[in-house]
Amino acid sequence: MNVFFFGCRGSTPVSGDEYRRYGTATSCIGIGTVAAAGYADAAARKAAPRLVLDAGTGFINLERVLGGEPFRGSVCITHLHWDHTHGLPFLREACLQGHRVDIYVPGQGSLGDAETVMNRAFSPPHFPVPIGTLGESWSVSGIEPGTRELEGLSIRAEEIPHKGGRTFGYRVSDGTSSLAYLPDHEPCALGAGPEGLGEYHPAALALATGVDLLVHDAQHTAAELHALGFMSHSAAEYVVGLGVAAGAKAVALFHHDPHRTDAQIDEIVAQLGDPGVQVIAAREGMVISLPLVGDARADASAVVPARIGRAVPPP
Ligand SMILES: [Zn+2]
Ligand SMILES: [Zn+2]
Repeated sequence: MNVFFFGCRGSTPVSGDEYRRYGTATSCIGIGTVAAAGYADAAARKAAPRLVLDAGTGFINLERVLGGEPFRGSVCITHLHWDHTHGLPFLREACLQGHRVDIYVPGQGSLGDAETVMNRAFSPPHFPVPIGTLGESWSVSGIEPGTRELEGLSIRAEEIPHKGGRTFGYRVSDGTSSLAYLPDHEPCALGAGPEGLGEYHPAALALATGVDLLVHDAQHTAAELHALGFMSHSAAEYVVGLGVAAGAKAVALFHHDPHRTDAQIDEIVAQLGDPGVQVIAAREGMVISLPLVGDARADASAVVPARIGRAVPPP
């Protein structure tokens, strides 16, 4: 499978030259199942993802791989915070004739059905158009933990701790490779854990065990966690620890703090050293093909355009 990183920022989009390399858009990744090599050409368009995880402002970047074709696929949202949903109404290809947009969100229990709860944010006076009326083939469904088949992929959902609404992490498999996606996660909510950075709890381990790539909340560093832990995120050092404990082949630091510059993200990766699992920082525009065949950093840089939408010649 190919993992497209459309938005890697946490909390809010940013702008400025100091964020150019890791990107400005909020959480959104896509899973494609056909080999892609430089995704502005026709073959790459066929590889455009049909399964999307989260729809922050990075969701708009799908237009770069759809080549003017309507989006037809499923969007699994981890939770309803703004930075994971605000791109939904702005992908033009999701409203073209022939579109299909099936949105799955954690079931909202006593708060009401999923579409009603989403429309608290996507209806006047907050937003002009209710989410289910953006196109004739849009649907919103609440889901519970468990495994289901979507777009030819197996996707498992498990509830994980994160403040302010029910939150899922996801594990996606195509039968030969797998990915875990936990963009917002507060493991300290379940205890300090062995290093004081949070528990390696059963849901996180179940999602991450043996995956080719663990994409995980790394909004903070261990040194920041005491002061910023109230924001309900993880430290980069926890991500490495979870990756090692779960036997992941590589980890991608994700959901970067909106104030974190490119240079500071580089510094965090450098300071992690050689922790026993491959570590990369997720970068907007990056595509990683799984299963990994070598060094994750090399694999990523070999197929990744500098910015989404810019064709790169095959290596
Ligand atoms: Zn978030
Ligand atoms: Zn959140």
